[in-house]
Amino acid sequence: MADNNKALKNVGLYVYSCRKCGQCANKVTDAIPYVCPVREKTPGFDHFYARGKNVIAQGLLEEEIEPSKELADVAYSCTLCGNCMDKCGAIDQNTGEPLVDPVKIVEAMREDLLTDHPEWVDSEYKVLLTKTQQYDNPWGLPRSVKGKLEKKLSLPNALKKPPEVLLFVGCTAASNPIQTERVIRASEILKKADVNLAVLGKDEPCCGSVQKRIGAGEQAREMMNKNIHLFNKTGCKTIVTLCAGCANALKNDYSNGEEKLKPRVYHIVEFLAQLIKQDKLKFSQKQNKKVTYHDPCHLGRHMGVYDAPREVLKALPGVELVERTATRNNTICCGAGGGMRIFESGTLAVKIGEAAIESALQTGAEELVSACPFCEMNLEASGKALNSQMPVLDIIDLVYEAV
Ligand code: SF4
Ligand code: SF4
Repeated sequence: MADNNKALKNVGLYVYSCRKCGQCANKVTDAIPYVCPVREKTPGFDHFYARGKNVIAQGLLEEEIEPSKELADVAYSCTLCGNCMDKCGAIDQNTGEPLVDPVKIVEAMREDLLTDHPEWVDSEYKVLLTKTQQYDNPWGLPRSVKGKLEKKLSLPNALKKPPEVLLFVGCTAASNPIQTERVIRASEILKKADVNLAVLGKDEPCCGSVQKRIGAGEQAREMMNKNIHLFNKTGCKTIVTLCAGCANALKNDYSNGEEKLKPRVYHIVEFLAQLIKQDKLKFSQKQNKKVTYHDPCHLGRHMGVYDAPREVLKALPGVELVERTATRNNTICCGAGGGMRIFESGTLAVKIGEAAIESALQTGAEELVSACPFCEMNLEASGKALNSQMPVLDIIDLVYEAV
């Protein structure tokens, strides 16, 4: 007999710990009016937010509900932003750990659907997975793209000589000219701080984050296990990533790997904050601008990194940071997480991002700054949809201007 709902069974404890209280739908405060960005931008029925999804997960486990195309649409209409998890009151009183993890429940639902009923999953997700198999890159870019970037960066290859720090470029960061320029800027900043740095160039694999989020659990686990072996082989002490999704995968998902990942993992904002504290990174250029910061969900709610980006921004001469009302763990999701730029061709993702743009405009800031290429690209699209004139940048751009 086929072992259906295999992934969901592994998170059954989370499913049954959900009290179905609906706190993950309620208003937080007057200033932070909603928890679930998907529920907010859809007709708002229960299945659009965590409680409804958990009821469906329980129905699947008890075989009261049959998988269907409609069910696949429910499973994929989630940015995995983690706001429901953050606001969920079901906490273990002894350990303080959450008893319900709606993000893991949604990922498991997706994994079972992709395994047992791939016919109901959006074909674009399957294209992404095929491209990953062919190129080790979800966007179908050949390895030579990262090889050329290695030459542009003039950095040594980490497999030739063990570096102190391995700069993990990431597939998205290497995917278009703006992102490529960002990688160059990041490496220039780190060189100025005398960091012993190397890259993997054409040997750099995909981190497996996107694959995991869209439900290709087995494929992602294989990629991650291979990657852990490769990273350990370089002998580097530290890995620095430019993308919040890569950082979250390397830090959190890789801890479940067959082998222990030896290097420490930092997102670049964490690493830059350390360099500033150690007086290794100095700024000579004043910029005179007011900016607001968008906390990426992967960096904030999933990794708890809130202070480091703010420390970096506050250290830049002439840069004034103004906070949005919904900030830090209450941040409004950019809309791009969990493969949502593919779901319904990205229309829901853009609508979700519009709320993030509106909250940034309310601050009176001149620029919206983030620390993740996914956030940047989706916020850019949402800004265009709203005719916003506010530029969307990455912290790296501001640091680069200041050094
Ligand atoms: S996920 Fe948490 S907040 Fe939402 S219904 Fe379940 S127990 Fe309540
Ligand atoms: S992870 Fe975010 S989008 Fe998904 S159900 Fe929770 S709050 Fe909604």
